[in-house]
Amino acid sequence: MGSVRCLRCVSCQTEYDPREIDYTCPTCGPRRGTLEVIYDEAALRRTIRRETFAATGRASMWRYETLLPIDSMRFVQPLRVGWTPLYSFPALAQRLNLAALYVKDDGQNPTASYKDRASSLVVIKAQERERHTVTCASTGNAASSLAGFAAAAGLPAVIFVPERAPEAKVAQLLVYGAKVFSVLGSYDDAYDLASEAADRFGWYNRSAALNPYLVEGKKTGAYEIAEQLGWQPPDLVFIGVGDGSVVSGLCKGFEEFARLGLIDRVPRVVGVQAEGSSPIAAAFARYRGSTVEFEDVEAATVADSICVGKPRDVVKAVTYVARNGGEFVSVSDNEILEAILTLARSTGVFAEPAGAAAYAGLVQLAKGGTLAGKTAAVVVSGNGLKDTAATRQRVGAPIRIEPHVKEIERYL
Ligand SMILES: [Zn+2]
Repeated sequence: MGSVRCLRCVSCQTEYDPREIDYTCPTCGPRRGTLEVIYDEAALRRTIRRETFAATGRASMWRYETLLPIDSMRFVQPLRVGWTPLYSFPALAQRLNLAALYVKDDGQNPTASYKDRASSLVVIKAQERERHTVTCASTGNAASSLAGFAAAAGLPAVIFVPERAPEAKVAQLLVYGAKVFSVLGSYDDAYDLASEAADRFGWYNRSAALNPYLVEGKKTGAYEIAEQLGWQPPDLVFIGVGDGSVVSGLCKGFEEFARLGLIDRVPRVVGVQAEGSSPIAAAFARYRGSTVEFEDVEAATVADSICVGKPRDVVKAVTYVARNGGEFVSVSDNEILEAILTLARSTGVFAEPAGAAAYAGLVQLAKGGTLAGKTAAVVVSGNGLKDTAATRQRVGAPIRIEPHVKEIERYL
């Protein structure tokens, strides 16, 4: 399997042969025993150069094929995933007293979220393992993403969503032809049910954190930020955090590039949680470098994609961000909704609430004055069209008029 050396438990460090294990460390269990994909670093260092990726000619995350755990390009779907734009907004940077502000618009992926990076890879892993059905539980984006990529690969998908999942995301699932179960309960209930069903029926499970290959797809956003900025990554990178897999992926991506000598320094990764759903930020605040202690919460936030009270990748998220030198912050729903409007009105990028949370975290730290003169990137992890209900009440209604020019004059 390419240059993968083993899968290693993030808690007890036991190493496993990837052919012998699907999900998590049997000793440490599904919460603490998430697995890391470990590569033959010496071999990679001999063969990989900065030019390696552009030389593939691929404007997608598959330009990083040599750093991804697939056997071959045989099952890669035709959909273009990754290599999303990284925009610079100097005027907005100036307003925040930053030297530069970049926005990575992952709403431009095929199903309009960052999760496509992971789904693309996991559908390929299902096919390599000759598993004929894929499944997951999700607050929405991971599910619609899996459904889309399963459709592209011709595999059936069975999806579990909490009953409160936004309508646009549920519609997306049904349009892609997935079998959708709306679970009368929370995301956490849907997650446990999907795991049980996957075991019972032999489906390949893409649920967050459980599957070790998800973080591998998610790390490619970090690779891209580094490469798109000419191998000079920004001082800080902001990302919304729910289960903790995307923030872990970004940390891993930057760390791998640094270890391979492709970048000289690693940006500080800032994970942004919603105040009503911030168990990882709380676990990080308690972390003293040994065992990660965490407590689950009843989650409630307008940002459905990061509304997770029982985060599944908490151990990775806390240890990776600590090693990275980054931090976690929490923002209110009000700050998130404000961030959607500011971003949309000053950049033209329409983020869904979880995507705008990252920007809200940046604004919070910028107000504290600690970011003056720094460069920062914000990862917008999903397109705003996926959840318009949240912002709709903030922006008022259009002006109703009769079809006469005189009518317009009354309102100018
Ligand atoms: Zn273990």
